[in-house]
Amino acid sequence: MKTKIVKILPGDTENLEKAAKLIKCGEIVAIPTETVYGLAANVYDESAVGKIFKAKGRPQDNPLIVHISKLSQLGEIAAYIPDSLKVLAEHFMPGPLTVVLPKNPKISDTVTAGLSSVAVRMPSHETARAFISACLVPLAAPSANISGSPSPTSAKHVFDDLNGKIPMIIDGGECSVGVESTVISLLGDVPEVLRPGAVTLEQLQSVLGEVKVNRAVLAPLQKNEKASSPGMKHKHYSPKTKIITVKSSAQAFVRYVNG
Ligand code: AMP
Ligand code: MG
Repeated sequence: MKTKIVKILPGDTENLEKAAKLIKCGEIVAIPTETVYGLAANVYDESAVGKIFKAKGRPQDNPLIVHISKLSQLGEIAAYIPDSLKVLAEHFMPGPLTVVLPKNPKISDTVTAGLSSVAVRMPSHETARAFISACLVPLAAPSANISGSPSPTSAKHVFDDLNGKIPMIIDGGECSVGVESTVISLLGDVPEVLRPGAVTLEQLQSVLGEVKVNRAVLAPLQKNEKASSPGMKHKHYSPKTKIITVKSSAQAFVRYVNG
C-alpha cells in the first residue's frame, strides 16, 4: 500500500473531506494532535479498528482512546457523565487530558479491550477536531507508532514507522505538547491518575481536590497484579538507538560526550 502524506489546515474542507472519505470507507488515517500523532478509525467500525491493532502490532488487550470533536459526543460514548467530568471539561477540554468513564454499550469490546470502561479525549489541535467533525463519528486512535516504539510527534516520524501499512498521514505540523495525554479515571469515588502526561497532578488537584495516583505509575507492577490501565504493562518508548547512561558528574559527562 502506498502511504500519502497530505498537509491539511483546519479550513481546508476539500482535503478534510477526502481524508474523511477514507475513514467512512473503513480505512485508517494518521492524524496530528497536540500530544502525539494518532492512528484513527471510525469507533463504530470493528474491521477498521482491527486494522489499527494490525498496523501497529498492538497487543489486543491494550484499549484505545476515543477522540471527539465536541463535548456533546460524550453521551454516545459514556454510560453517564459524572459531575467531576464537568469540572475537568471546563478546565482541560479540549486539551491533553484523557478521561476514563463507564462505557456506553454502543462502544465495542475491541475498542475497550473487553473493559466495561472507555477512555475519551477531545484534542485541542484544530486540524484534529476539524477532521473528527468531518468524519461525523468519534474516532478510536492510539499513538501512530509501531507498538513499543517512541510516539511520533511529526508526520515524518509516522511515515518512518508505518510507511506501506496505512493509506494516509495528515500532516498538521510538529505536535506542540509532544508527550502523551494524562489519563485519569473517574470510575471510583476519588479520581485516579492512571498515566502521567501533559496535565500535571497539581493542575488536576487544583480543580478536583483529592486525586489519587495509581500505584503502577510510580512502581513496576508486581507479579499477578492487574494493571488498571492495561497499556502500563506493555513495553513503551523503546528507541532503536543505543542508550548509554553516564553515572558521574556533569563535567565528566561533558568530557565523555566531547570524546
Ligand atoms: P496510546 O493511545 O497508545 O497512548 O494508549 C492509550 C492509553 O490509554 C493506554 O495506556 C491504555 O491502557 C489507556 N486506556 C485506554 N482505555 C482505557 C480504559 N478503559 N481504562 C484504563 N486505561 C485505558
Ligand atoms: Mg502509545
